[in-house]
Amino acid sequence: MDNKKNPKNSPLKNPVIIFLIISAIATIILNIAISAVSNPTKTQITYDKFLSMVNKDKVDEIIIESDRIIIYEKSDIDISEISQKTSKMISIFGISKKDVYEELQKESRKIYYTGYIRDERLLPVLDEHGVTYSTPIQYNNPILNFILSWILPLGIIYLIFFLLTRSMSKHIGGGGIMGIGQSNAKMYNIENKTGVTFADVAGQEEAKESLNEIVDFLHHPAKYTAIGAKQPKGALLVGPPGTGKTLLAKAVAGEANVPFFSLSGSEFVEMFVGVGASRVRDLFKQASQKAPCIIFIDEIDAIGKSRDAQISSNDEREQTLNQLLSEMDGFDSSKGLVILAATNRPEILDKALLRPGRFDRRIIVEKPDLKGREDILKVHIKNVKTDPSIDLHAMALATSGAVGADLANMVNEAALRAVRMGRNAVLQEDLMEAVEVIIAGKEKKDRILSEKEKRMVAFHEVGHALATALQKNTQPVHKITIVPRTMGALGYTMQMPEEEEHYLMSKDEILDQITVFLAGRAAEELVFGTKTTGASNDIERATSMARAMITQYGMSDKFGMAGLESIEHKYLDGRSVSNCSEETKTKIDEEIVSVLGACHDKAYSLLEGHRTALDEISEYLIKKETITGDEFMAIFNRIENPEPETEETKEETPENE
Ligand code: ADP
Ligand code: MG
Ligand code: ZN
Repeated sequence: MDNKKNPKNSPLKNPVIIFLIISAIATIILNIAISAVSNPTKTQITYDKFLSMVNKDKVDEIIIESDRIIIYEKSDIDISEISQKTSKMISIFGISKKDVYEELQKESRKIYYTGYIRDERLLPVLDEHGVTYSTPIQYNNPILNFILSWILPLGIIYLIFFLLTRSMSKHIGGGGIMGIGQSNAKMYNIENKTGVTFADVAGQEEAKESLNEIVDFLHHPAKYTAIGAKQPKGALLVGPPGTGKTLLAKAVAGEANVPFFSLSGSEFVEMFVGVGASRVRDLFKQASQKAPCIIFIDEIDAIGKSRDAQISSNDEREQTLNQLLSEMDGFDSSKGLVILAATNRPEILDKALLRPGRFDRRIIVEKPDLKGREDILKVHIKNVKTDPSIDLHAMALATSGAVGADLANMVNEAALRAVRMGRNAVLQEDLMEAVEVIIAGKEKKDRILSEKEKRMVAFHEVGHALATALQKNTQPVHKITIVPRTMGALGYTMQMPEEEEHYLMSKDEILDQITVFLAGRAAEELVFGTKTTGASNDIERATSMARAMITQYGMSDKFGMAGLESIEHKYLDGRSVSNCSEETKTKIDEEIVSVLGACHDKAYSLLEGHRTALDEISEYLIKKETITGDEFMAIFNRIENPEPETEETKEETPENE
């Protein structure tokens, strides 16, 4: 993927020059500062004075530079002044006294300088008076010196500024602090080839069908214009998160083999008014130069929020939206420019965005059904090594309600588990464990339950399972476990549909399911005569089911078919909003309590009537910790339908006939 970030009209020039000037000033200051620190004060003296100092044995050392001589006067520090104490300390650190004195003397030398004169007499005189002399070595390479003291700091400072402003630009937007409002081209990605095709998107056949027309149009625009048909300018992909909206948009570009301009709605809107609008302008300008191509605006609700629904208006967002609307009207769709957008809150979008000529197509990307899930699993399992025995159908059955992103994640979890287990291929066991990890969290082997708690959890879970088995309108038990999980469950009972899940739920099914939820608590009460906190999640789910039954599905005798609540943001599992008066709300609550009470009583009497099964299966579960639905049903059938004679008659019948 190449993210060419708009090479043409970026204002790179401006920042570069500004950076350079800042760096140069900083370097000069740096150099002055360094020379001030590293050069102790020197006093200028005449050459005569220097010679006389040498003759008076006052000079310790000289350094002959290209144009001057640095003179170090002999130190007048008196060694005997250094007290006995110091010498002791010095010897403790293992440094010889002599070293210390020499160092002290060097430090305290006075420094002079004088102009350098080519004087033949000088060297013999120096030798005679025991003066050491040298010339600085690095001084011989002025180029290296220049690079070290000027170019290098300049480069480093430039780099720091560059990185700093770049990271700032991520927050502020535009081309760094210098480029606010000028160019915002960097805010979107261009992929010339997305590399994704419809084959990578499974289980969204209807969506793919609708999008196919767009692909065809991008391939043969002439076919459409010849007959006078106008291609829709934009399509809006609507659906819950993780269902593959972004993936579908990329696949359209991949299938049509056109460039893919993508950006997120939230990236348009910045704190500076006008930035978003200029970004929209820029985006459309760039895209129309590259047409045919696809512009994809992810999370369009960030800019497309209805303009009048706001309490406080947001100028920037409105301007951006207006610009988007006018650009969408302005461009010529016959060129092959198609705009796709995705959202999971279609109901808050501004009506103007949805009118014909703009996003007039709405493509629903739903949560996948059983077959869809199986197909998605097939797509993702291709990338991992698997054992031939794996059964993706069973996994699809167990993942009702999961979206594409979840399934992709589960396959990956399974592969990770296989690696942890030291295998080189994924087994069915890995896949099913991955499903549970995503649903309930990882097993927490280290959380040891006390014997008493373990018994309680076991009876609670078997209570759920028995209520399932004893009622008609329920899904069969798939697994019961009392191994705690990281997401809080101390144990759980997994139900799984036998075949295709169904899309409708009857009132009886809902009531039976509520009874199953409450059977855990009923078992605690029946067996231990107590109530535990373990039932809180059951109670929550049972209550919301009962509430929905009464307020949304019109299933209570008291209220009939009045819609008392509606769901906000249905693609985001949003909250329900109440549509009724306060008095009705109170009555709804009473009704919920009575539904739950009836279900609880039913659960209690079911378990009471099958106490033997409850006890035996619970004991078995305590011993094994995890049992399958089949094991559960085997014990259940043995106790509930003993029929020992039938076994014998069965064997005998063939002989008789
Ligand atoms: P959305 O944009 O709807 O929130 P994405 O398109 O970003 O979801 O999907 C996230 C990931 O989930 C994808 O990269 C892909 O791996 C996986 N995925 C989602 N839906 C599907 C699908 N229908 N088929 C295959 N993979 C899918
Ligand atoms: Mg997305
Ligand atoms: Zn429970």
